[in-house]
Amino acid sequence: MNNLAAVLVESARTGGDRIAVRQDDTTLTYAQLDDASARLASLLRDRGVRPGDRVALVMPNVSLFPVVYYGILRAGAAVVPMNPLLKAREAAFTLRDSGARAVLVHPLFAEEVAKAATEVGAECLVTDAEVFDGLLRAAEPMAEVVERAADDTAVILYTSGTTGTPKGAELTHRNLLSNAVTTRETLIRIRPDDVLFGGLPLFHAFGQTCALNAAVSAGATLTLLPRFEPARALEIMHRDRVTVFLGVPTMYTALLQTGVPAGHDLSPLRVAISGGASLPVEVLHGFERDFDVTVLEGYGLSETSPVAVFNPPDRPRKAGSIGLPIRGVEVRLVADDGSTVAPGEVGEIAIRGENVMKGYWNRPEATEDAVRGGWFHSGDLARVDEDGYYFIVDRKKDLIIRGGYNVYPREIEEVLYEHPAVAEAAVVGVPHQVHGEEIAAVVTLRQDGADTSADALRDFVKERVAAYKYPRIVTFTDALPKGATGKILKREIVVDQSATD
Ligand code: AMP
Repeated sequence: MNNLAAVLVESARTGGDRIAVRQDDTTLTYAQLDDASARLASLLRDRGVRPGDRVALVMPNVSLFPVVYYGILRAGAAVVPMNPLLKAREAAFTLRDSGARAVLVHPLFAEEVAKAATEVGAECLVTDAEVFDGLLRAAEPMAEVVERAADDTAVILYTSGTTGTPKGAELTHRNLLSNAVTTRETLIRIRPDDVLFGGLPLFHAFGQTCALNAAVSAGATLTLLPRFEPARALEIMHRDRVTVFLGVPTMYTALLQTGVPAGHDLSPLRVAISGGASLPVEVLHGFERDFDVTVLEGYGLSETSPVAVFNPPDRPRKAGSIGLPIRGVEVRLVADDGSTVAPGEVGEIAIRGENVMKGYWNRPEATEDAVRGGWFHSGDLARVDEDGYYFIVDRKKDLIIRGGYNVYPREIEEVLYEHPAVAEAAVVGVPHQVHGEEIAAVVTLRQDGADTSADALRDFVKERVAAYKYPRIVTFTDALPKGATGKILKREIVVDQSATD
């Protein structure tokens, strides 16, 4: 099998009556999901989508997501999943950059996306379940899965990678398929009778591979939660007898704070998976105690499909560690000059293996910068212990992870610089109890611009970017700390946190 769409076809063939996806009262069996995605594929083909084209998908975690995702793949096109919270100008960037022929969007998010699609000349299909049912019934299911080579691009995930500007990580069928199968077989060991919690956004690599593709390749059930909320999550875990929980650390914190409500039976839960950011050891221990389950932490990036390192289930897990390199993946810690660091020293995580992206879409220079000699350079700093377990120490790159969402300071700084009163701006992350990190902007004003305010600047950014990205804290300073080359020294910035809302 070398086509990601084939995982669905195979699970439908071997267990068509099993429930593939649940979203509250809506369920899709494997046979139904297979049929709907085959109809979507023919609908796309009728609208001119050809193998190798890019088709964007803008949907929260609803049951239509997998229909559209596998439908696009089946038609031989590459999926460009987008965060539904993007504003028109951000969406337009992704559509233009990927050269998307069409975009399929959920009605809740249609306004901004339709504007963006018009701007770039992509066809915009707004679909809720009802519209979709009609469209799909009218289309004949496409009998075959359009053949693709293992190294053809299956999905383009937009990420800022190790440097500022967003770019598309091109993940091949082999990348995604191998990572899903390894996750299923060796990391989570998913069986057909497992029920996976689907609260991680499916447009992001973690949810897409470890929840969606891994579950589908096992013929298991994925129960979806469109917007994470701890009480709802607990209700779903109880109602659907969830056996595998997957989440980012902020979800763990929220669940731990809520606690298991009386009358909720979570005993079917057999493992909990954490990734995307460091899971504080206290949270890991608290969760294991209160939810009576082992928590396994892993590590990866969009560029690595995403899993690269993981605490394997057959060895005692190490709290605070991201684990060992997974099957088919090698990891090395490198110094700035590219040499491997001495044992026990901190170095940048470099990754080589079947999970490493083909490159950044249309960005040969950025690709060369990131992938050297087959090794992808992650921008994350780590050390390794005598048992080969890796521990994340810091991030070399500029990245804030707020509530599980990546926020790249450079992007927010660019917007701040657009304000006429701003002379210089630095955006940094500060520790936050609920979100893990909070976004803070430290600004110097132009001589003539002193009449603006922190609230005005905050609102200025808020109007221009997705809601999770604008700085909740804005402070002013006379001068930002700088190094010899004039580069702003972010680590030396001290933020007055009383200015938060
Ligand atoms: P993304 O491309 O959105 O998946 O983000 C990847 C980044 O998330 C990595 O480069 C890390 O900085 C961070 N990350 C992922 N997993 C972990 C982890 N277990 N511990 C610390 N940071 C992590």
